[in-house]
Amino acid sequence: MAYQSTNPYTGEVEKTFVDISPAQLDDKLQRADACFKTDWRERSFAARTIILKKAATLMRERAQPMAELITREMGKLIAQSLGEVALSAAILDYYADHAEQFLAPEKLTTAKGEALVESSPIGVLFGVEPWNYPYYQIARFAAPNLMAGNVVMVKHASSVPQCALAFEQLLHDAGAPAGAYTNLFISKEQVAQVIEDPRIRAVALTGSEAAGAIVAAQAGQHLKKTTLELGGSDAFIVLEDADLDKAVKFAVRGRMGNSGQACTASKRIIVVDALADSFLEKFQSALGHFEPGDPMDKVTTLAPLSSAGALEILLKQVDGAVRHGARVVMGGKRVDGRHGYFMQPTILTDISPKNPAYKEEFFGPVAMFFRVKDEAAAVALANDSPFGLGGSVFTQDIERGKRVARKIETGMVYINSDLVSSPELPFGGVKNSGYGRELSGAGIQEFVNKKLIRVN
Ligand code: NAP
Repeated sequence: MAYQSTNPYTGEVEKTFVDISPAQLDDKLQRADACFKTDWRERSFAARTIILKKAATLMRERAQPMAELITREMGKLIAQSLGEVALSAAILDYYADHAEQFLAPEKLTTAKGEALVESSPIGVLFGVEPWNYPYYQIARFAAPNLMAGNVVMVKHASSVPQCALAFEQLLHDAGAPAGAYTNLFISKEQVAQVIEDPRIRAVALTGSEAAGAIVAAQAGQHLKKTTLELGGSDAFIVLEDADLDKAVKFAVRGRMGNSGQACTASKRIIVVDALADSFLEKFQSALGHFEPGDPMDKVTTLAPLSSAGALEILLKQVDGAVRHGARVVMGGKRVDGRHGYFMQPTILTDISPKNPAYKEEFFGPVAMFFRVKDEAAAVALANDSPFGLGGSVFTQDIERGKRVARKIETGMVYINSDLVSSPELPFGGVKNSGYGRELSGAGIQEFVNKKLIRVN
């Protein structure tokens, strides 16, 4: 598989990179293993902190060129690319500041003697990461694990190789020793070899259900722990006592951010009868204001999708939904008469449970709109999904919002907001959205050995 940067706005291939050879791969594995055993795990938190803090500083200094790389490789609006760079730097800082406290030894109360649990690093970790947030995805894997004393190797998505290299360079320039952070341009066969390699201790994947199932099965065969951050089809519930304008505003951001290509995008908009007509009218009107253009231009509001393939899949899904009875309220087609992989902002309704779309993830600016009779019906519909990543509830009664949130089968529920990730908040899902958590204190506990030391 060739790693290739293709600009989704112009369609031009900017750069291609070849997969590394078996000998190069072995060399990189060797270096990572040696770095872990003879250097990185021996360093103090303070020493690791200096390097991650430096990486965060460098990332902020390089914000503009690093953001431009995102936009050129996967098409994100430049303002959102800059936002992603800032968030990624904040994640580096967050773990640099808090890792020691999160991993502090815990004294246990026992009848006799002394017992404590220490968190020690486990070795070389392997991450398989997606293109939709090219730096944020790797920051949330690399930052906690580097601070914990593990070393990391990353196979990034084949469409964002320049971002992959820019992040590796960042850690190198920040003073990380060779082998602490390694980018790998490798094929899927080589991914399997890396997972199998005894020098690799655990695997994290963020991506589709299909890739998650394959990679987790490979890791399971070799008795290696995994975390999986997979797809989602988050419900965005609007109850009858919601602030309508606020709900519409957040639904627009939740569905249209990153051109709809977010695992936690508000993909299923579920509104109770009392507000459904007025919500739909305002939502449609707001989506009508999105204008396609050059994502590098600050005034553009609609970015292209990440690739020709992504656009093709989305158009097929919309067609399939319509063939099975869904109604297109707006959009539904490719933006006509221009280059770039642009999808019209789209609203689908009348999606019955028998429609395949009902259980699918739409990875682009396509909202599924559902009208329900009351709160109970909204919760039932929200939970009638193979996914369980995030969700939103809009109500002016916060206690009611919390009660509803508890009934939703997902890893995250936001009240009166779409889902916005932040370093201190745990991120992850249940059901087919995967298992394990990234970010927050929870994210640094996934790949450490909780070792009991007992003194008699
Ligand atoms: P994808 O195809 O699964 O790709 C993700 C990563 O997995 C890429 O590096 C990809 O490599 C690799 N990969 C794919 N098939 C593989 C295989 N058989 N063996 C080894 N590696 C494999 O995902 P995508 O469609 O690009 O990304 C979008 C999906 O990711 C959506 O479902 C989205 O919801 C999900 N996602 C989830 C989260 C979360 O935190 N829960 C965050 C972001 C995205 P190549 O690029 O070389 O194919």
